[in-house]
Amino acid sequence: MQPSSSRLIPANSRVARHGAPTRRPRPASRPPIRGARTGLLALAALLLGAGVAGAAEAPELARIRYWTAPDHTRIVFDMTGPPGEPRFRLADSLTFEVYLPGARKSPALTTEFVGDSLVADIFTAVSDAGTAIRIGLKKKVTPLAFVLAPADGQPDRVVVDVPAPADPAAEKAIAQRVAELKKSRKLIVAIDAGHGGDDPGAVGHRRLQEADVTLAIAKKLKAELDQVPGISAVLTRTGDYFIPLRKRIDLARKYQADVMVSIHCNASRNRRATGTEVYFLSLTGATDEAARAVAEAENAADLIGGVPPETGNDLLSILFDLRQNDTIRQSSELAEHLIDALEADTRLETRGVKQAGFVVLKAPEIPSVLVETAFITNAREAAMLKDVHFQRKMAEMLATGLQRFKANRDKALGINSN
Ligand SMILES: [Zn+2]
Repeated sequence: MQPSSSRLIPANSRVARHGAPTRRPRPASRPPIRGARTGLLALAALLLGAGVAGAAEAPELARIRYWTAPDHTRIVFDMTGPPGEPRFRLADSLTFEVYLPGARKSPALTTEFVGDSLVADIFTAVSDAGTAIRIGLKKKVTPLAFVLAPADGQPDRVVVDVPAPADPAAEKAIAQRVAELKKSRKLIVAIDAGHGGDDPGAVGHRRLQEADVTLAIAKKLKAELDQVPGISAVLTRTGDYFIPLRKRIDLARKYQADVMVSIHCNASRNRRATGTEVYFLSLTGATDEAARAVAEAENAADLIGGVPPETGNDLLSILFDLRQNDTIRQSSELAEHLIDALEADTRLETRGVKQAGFVVLKAPEIPSVLVETAFITNAREAAMLKDVHFQRKMAEMLATGLQRFKANRDKALGINSN
């Protein structure tokens, strides 16, 4: 048996993004180089030990994508069908192996893996029995691997999350910064850019992706807020990577945020739908059917981006307690301030404040709102969302709403705000 192998081709850095179908496949044909030989031997051994799987309708490994997040690297293997029962193992402290029994490798397999601080390289090898993948690690960590079913345009996938080692110094620095902010009595605003990584969010007019728009607006909002003396902003997401909804809440809590604003773009099959909406949590049902559908679409992020099945949880139901009543009252106030501020842009029709069961709004002690900035599926509004001037205007309006919220809150707390 002669396993074929190829080193995956490096490319420029803004790559493997959501796998936009317009991207031309890149042939992976560079010959194996330095360090590849031992990898090949290990792969051959793996394949020999694997036995021959049924070849009928074998799924193919079609594409390899990856995203670098601050605390992990995610590698996604796109399959043309269910991958059966993949096997995962740490072959040695710096080598993680994925074996896909019965799977073939697509001749058009593309990847643009360039290596990052956690992953050195990826090799694939095929035999009659299946496909083996060897992931070279840079740090001694244990990756988490799992299978994801197709969801919202995403195919069957095998996912490997390589965690960054714990960094006590960085954790300490964050804790110190939070302690300082708390002492200063600044309003800490967690800004949550919706979606990211393998969850592009709604894909709109001219394939504009929600995840890109939300990050751009979130960064501009942070810049706006950081200029306000009594406010300090933190971002839950700073780049293009996936964060499960629960973890977004955890991040806001880690920063001891006083409020959380989650930024999104609305989408509708009706291309004429337009306008802006601000949501806060409902515990008893949505404002109306349309609001329920919006929450359902946003809550699907975890299915699309993918969390390991065992961590998909129902914890949220036990989080509710009496604190939540006051949190929801404050969330409602914040939503009203934001929608009022958004009226400053006459190009946007304000569709009002609404309620629905968004997972990301379920922090029990942090007043939280979700802003559906505009419709990415409407040609005119998509053009606005893409425009940096509109993004800045949106950030300014949201900052104004947050300042008014803060002024009211300070008055109620007897704080002399500036
Ligand atoms: Zn969204």
